[in-house]
Amino acid sequence: AKQRVPFIGANWKMYLMPDQVIPYIETIKDQLPSPDQAEVMIAASPLYLWPLLDHAKGSNVIIAAENCDYHDTGAYTGEVSPKALSEMGITYSIAGHSERRHYFDEDPEIVNKKVHALLRNHINPIVCCDETLVRTETDDDVHWVVSQVIAAFKNVDASDAAKMMIAYEPRWAIGTGITASAEEAEEGCALIRQTISSIYSPALADTVRVLYGGSVTPKTVKALMAQPDIDGVLVGSASLDPNEFLKLIHY
Ligand code: PEP
Repeated sequence: AKQRVPFIGANWKMYLMPDQVIPYIETIKDQLPSPDQAEVMIAASPLYLWPLLDHAKGSNVIIAAENCDYHDTGAYTGEVSPKALSEMGITYSIAGHSERRHYFDEDPEIVNKKVHALLRNHINPIVCCDETLVRTETDDDVHWVVSQVIAAFKNVDASDAAKMMIAYEPRWAIGTGITASAEEAEEGCALIRQTISSIYSPALADTVRVLYGGSVTPKTVKALMAQPDIDGVLVGSASLDPNEFLKLIHY
């Protein structure tokens, strides 16, 4: 059996409006598993982090950032300071989401800088690694995932690597309604774990949680979570409704 604590993460992206945020957290916050059974996280816009942290206090939901800048602070108008996130009490942030890589030109080097900025500020990075191609018989897309994982961990020492999570998120599955089959998702997550093992050690790879993301729903979550190398899920669309997200949490 897996020793790693299951992880269920919501990524609200830029969808929820201000009047939805507090009712959402109030709906779920008393219905969550204990942290040793499963960790539940919500990644939200920086607009909402402060009130969310406030309303989540004393509950088992982790409030996280969707993105941040790689400078600690400074003259970077419109960007989100990882140091400020940390001082607010944020302990997790996504880095390198496929939408950031695709629409905002975040290359693997920028994502690595964000990883370092987060770690420097005591925030645990959740790095998303994607596939750009529809799965083919060639292994180009597979190599792309591996290269993103290697780039994400560049100059990260083992003690910091242990704080990270990697999400396998095939771009063709994100927001498309097409979930990867449990077998395809397992294949990607196993490859990521193997890559971590070859960078560090099998022992370290055994402790790092690897997530799957891409159109996960309350119907598909169970088979995904049953896979040996899938420790959790990152959920976009199906996390926008608190009751649907609760179903997913209690799969
Ligand atoms: C995501 O944004 O990380 C994601 C997986 O989105 P969706 O569940 O909508 O595919």
